Amino acid sequence: MINSTLKQLSEGLAKAEFTSAELTDAYLQRIAATDGDLNAFITVTADQARAEAKEADALRAQGKAGPLTGIPIAHKDIFCTQGVRTSCGSKMLDNFTAPYESTVTDKLRTAGMVMLGKTNLDEFAMGSSTESSFYGPTRNPWNTEVIPGGSSGGSAAAVAAGQAPVATGTDTGGSIRQPAALCNLTGLKPTYGRVSRWGMIAYGSSLDQGGPIARTAEDAALLLNGMAGFDHKDSTSKDIAVPDYTADLDKPLDGLRIGLPEEYFGEGLNSDIAARVEAGVKELEKLGATVKRISLPRTRLSIPAYYIIAPAEASTNLSRYDGVRYGYRCEAPKDLLDMYTRTRAEGFGEEVKRRIMIGTYALSAGYYDAYYNKAQQLRRLIKDDFQSAFAEVDVIAGPTTPSPAWKLGDKSNDPVSMYLEDIYTLSVNLAGLPGMSVPCGQVDGLPVGLQLIGNYFAEAQLLNVAHQYQQVTDWHQQTPAFG
Ligand code: GLN
Repeated sequence: MINSTLKQLSEGLAKAEFTSAELTDAYLQRIAATDGDLNAFITVTADQARAEAKEADALRAQGKAGPLTGIPIAHKDIFCTQGVRTSCGSKMLDNFTAPYESTVTDKLRTAGMVMLGKTNLDEFAMGSSTESSFYGPTRNPWNTEVIPGGSSGGSAAAVAAGQAPVATGTDTGGSIRQPAALCNLTGLKPTYGRVSRWGMIAYGSSLDQGGPIARTAEDAALLLNGMAGFDHKDSTSKDIAVPDYTADLDKPLDGLRIGLPEEYFGEGLNSDIAARVEAGVKELEKLGATVKRISLPRTRLSIPAYYIIAPAEASTNLSRYDGVRYGYRCEAPKDLLDMYTRTRAEGFGEEVKRRIMIGTYALSAGYYDAYYNKAQQLRRLIKDDFQSAFAEVDVIAGPTTPSPAWKLGDKSNDPVSMYLEDIYTLSVNLAGLPGMSVPCGQVDGLPVGLQLIGNYFAEAQLLNVAHQYQQVTDWHQQTPAFG
């Protein structure tokens, strides 16, 4: 049961092969048995999950069940969940119980999903390894010596280890796609504005986007159906109708034009990953797609642009954590200034402080034009590169990451080497495009991902390509020997 897809579980519930209460218990037991080794969860909401499962079973008995009713899910601990600790992986919010529910978790709950708990993440979603969490690192079920990716590493590890059938993640610069790739899962970052950011703790507000982490493209489509949509509470949410993301899954790929950016296959890419990704693209060709070499010349500049813009936005978003209204407050402050400074010095971890300092510097009067404005200009050029590419091709394909998962601790003292791991994912967020990662093989026993990038609001097309690929490959069905 624990390695089943959401789709299979949904059918099982519909046929009354098991109840949501039984399903929920099975996952709670799996979590209890394995999370000591993985640390994928910050909070397990067992009692609430059992109560929600009961409600879901009651709804089903009344004939009111949809495809997500009674399906357990793990939420990244960046989504505010009413009455439940919402820590964002930080000491700053260790004592914070959210007084309201995020739109994403609210929609999924309304669709009948059962929350198992809140998953671990890099502190305030800043990182690519889940090592910067106040709650300690999460381990990768494929090999517990390596990182699961980040920042949604807890969500990815939980699904890969069979602790949850699906999970939510957020992606500011790759945090859904990269952990999905490193844990052999299917992850989708939607177009900016497709999924509401309301109640999702802000990191880089012009980049952040929530999305599904699942075993298959079909599961990701089912979950996105429950997450997407306009929200008047998020002023950047787009008022565009939500299609049924499962409707196009079976469309043949005949005539699909795929672009391979030369910059995604150059120096820095692990040669075994290159081979796996090229083999994946060959499969798509066999399915009727045509392949064209393209160029995204500003790819290299996405790292400096992103690592100015994201910290700049983070520095303003994180100014609210001052010990006054909620969250951590230092002991016995001498005066107001002492309270502000000690609260922030004690409540934030190293990486968060580094980003606040970079962001504050880049936004300061003397350097605004030299750094922040320059980065915004680069962002525009990066966006233009994609638009030129989409004049010639429908979907862009390449690797999700330049290397497989690395050993815990290997990059934690060298932030720039960690930032470089984001080379293939950042530009998608800078441009606001949808991107996806699909399992395409293993390198030394560790999973790697094929990235698919689409034009604005082309989620259904990406899911179609990924689903067709998963009909002729079985990489996504492989599971770790863990536990
Ligand atoms: N690794 C990137 C960063 O550290 C992206 C993180 C994310 O997408 N939340 O900012």
